[in-house]
Amino acid sequence: MHEHDVLVVGAGGAGLRAAIEAQEEGADVALVTKLHPVRSHTGAAEGGINAALHHKDSWDKHAYDTMKGSDYLGDAPAIDAFAQEARHEVIQLEHWGMPFSREEDGTVSQRPFGGLSYPRTTYAGAETGHHLLHTMYEQVVKRGIEVYDEWFVTRLAVTDEDDPSERTCHGIVAIEIATGEVHGFYARDGVILATGGLGEVFDHTTNAIACTGDGPAMAFRAGAPMEDMEFVQFHPTTLPSTGVLISEGVRGEGGILYNADEERFMFERGYANNEGELASRDVVSRAELTEVNEGRGIEDEYVHLDMRHLGADRIIDRLENILHLAEDFEGVDGLDDPMPVKPGQHYQMGGVEVDEYGHSCIDGLYAVGEAACYSLHGANRLGGNALPELMVFGARAGRHAAGGVEEESEIATGPGAKSEDGVVDSPVDLGAVSDPDPVATDGGTLATPEQALEAAVEAERTRIETLLERDGINHADVRDRVQQTMTQNVNVFREEANLKQALRDIREARTLYQEVAVRDPSRTYNTDIIHTIETRNVIDCAEAITVGALAREEFRGAHWRKQYQYRDDENWLKHTLYAWNGGEPELYYKPVILEGEEQTYEPKQRSY
Ligand SMILES: Cc1cc2nc3c(=O)[nH]c(=O)nc-3n(C[C@H](O)[C@H](O)[C@H](O)COP(=O)(O)OP(=O)(O)OC[C@H]3O[C@@H](n4cnc5c(N)ncnc54)[C@H](O)[C@@H]3O)c2cc1C
Repeated sequence: MHEHDVLVVGAGGAGLRAAIEAQEEGADVALVTKLHPVRSHTGAAEGGINAALHHKDSWDKHAYDTMKGSDYLGDAPAIDAFAQEARHEVIQLEHWGMPFSREEDGTVSQRPFGGLSYPRTTYAGAETGHHLLHTMYEQVVKRGIEVYDEWFVTRLAVTDEDDPSERTCHGIVAIEIATGEVHGFYARDGVILATGGLGEVFDHTTNAIACTGDGPAMAFRAGAPMEDMEFVQFHPTTLPSTGVLISEGVRGEGGILYNADEERFMFERGYANNEGELASRDVVSRAELTEVNEGRGIEDEYVHLDMRHLGADRIIDRLENILHLAEDFEGVDGLDDPMPVKPGQHYQMGGVEVDEYGHSCIDGLYAVGEAACYSLHGANRLGGNALPELMVFGARAGRHAAGGVEEESEIATGPGAKSEDGVVDSPVDLGAVSDPDPVATDGGTLATPEQALEAAVEAERTRIETLLERDGINHADVRDRVQQTMTQNVNVFREEANLKQALRDIREARTLYQEVAVRDPSRTYNTDIIHTIETRNVIDCAEAITVGALAREEFRGAHWRKQYQYRDDENWLKHTLYAWNGGEPELYYKPVILEGEEQTYEPKQRSY
């Protein structure tokens, strides 16, 4: 068994930042990650990282833009902390050696991004995430932080009191991918989940194949609810054939969207008369799909993003990477031709329910980065706000887990935060199908750290043996079903009948999953085992997204409902929680917190 003070699961931007901070607080910290740190998906981030650095800008403007972007579903304590601390974090990155793009006078460049009232997006060419990862990984190496890379975490070791908020997380179980061996890791002080996004729930996504929602799904089954999962961001500019992202930086630099009639539709069709292409992402994605659905799309599928007028020098200086992506994946030379783009799944606003220190309702269990919901982004994330989020909340959680925070949190979590039961007209029973993967067994038997860890290791060994020994179907058939129904039925435009169809399909996938088996008997680098276990996580995340989407009868941020075409603050100014409940999921709500440090945010009409 391995033993550390703080275990960080995942070594993307959020995990690296959490580990650095926990180590600064004096903790013995280890990173456990299924990919090598610099292969984490943060490396794909292109456009930039927001912070109110300029003397004409201020943190409260950044906070206001974030709250407005969230369509008033963000929690003010998280938003205020974020906007204030993002400035320090970006300067910290600069001091660690991040090669930010600069102006002639040497100051760090900042460009406009969608939904921002001031150009506050700093960047390193169109490879911001790549440089951010490398800059922080250097710090991890320099500090001698232990990294278990290519170790796949499959289960949390949590005690099993009836009330999840009385449980404690004592560690994790991980498979060493090189050998196939199952190991227990004991965490003396805390486990921080930094497992990233869940794009694999959909089949057209900007996310990598490793983004399978492992953190939210593991925490969910251990008793920490998933929050606001219905809010999925669809990015307006992805390449049609692959889902590869064309950064918002292109529009930030002045790129223009055209329909098949060569109309600049964001203005000419009145979708966003002030901000045009730089309206927030939900607005632009809906505009593009409306153009396609009304017959003004190109090849009935996409629109054009044109940057030719920016000139070769500026494009090569600031967006060179985009030229390579368009050429390599779509065969288009962005200097000579417009690029085809359409919306694709990009970011999950929801995640593990945590407070403004990343702490869940389970003692010692934290979540940060895209896996978490603080709630910072509410119903819609602004471009350039995820990278500073990784830094701010990674640092906060690392500090808290290592014992460096004394303040009480303002955001309540767990069943005690419930203000109202949820109702959902589901066409099927939700949750487990005689689930072979229980976390809490008989009440009270897993009271000590040793018992919790031993039981979790044992359960994992049994699961893997079963998968290897039995005959059955391949997990890919199951994952494929989920991805197809989610892309078809739980996309940008949502209708009741489609959402119900998705739930039927997810139930079928759950049933089928009981028959999956792993054919490859080897223990060495057996990726079939990894993908099979990940698919179980994909199913749990898909269900939470769809249940939340069916229950929420309003149109807010990224969540559009055909039958409910307006934001309903009277009834829906609240967060959706979906709890596992030992396999009998429960839906409930808790209020949004709009009282901030400097101001109470008043929900207003969101126009751009
Ligand atoms: C193409 C693209 C471009 C983007 N551009 C921007 C941008 O310009 N600005 C911005 O602000 N945001 C951007 N975003 C969003 C932002 O990059 C992501 O939200 C963010 O990087 C996620 O970071 P993370 O640390 O939470 O997760 P990741 O970087 O995805 O890291 C997850 C880590 O968890 C590990 N892991 C996962 N599951 C397990 C498991 N079961 N066991 C062990 N390890 C596990 C992985 O190995 C990995 O190390 C972009 C996103 C995409 C997809």
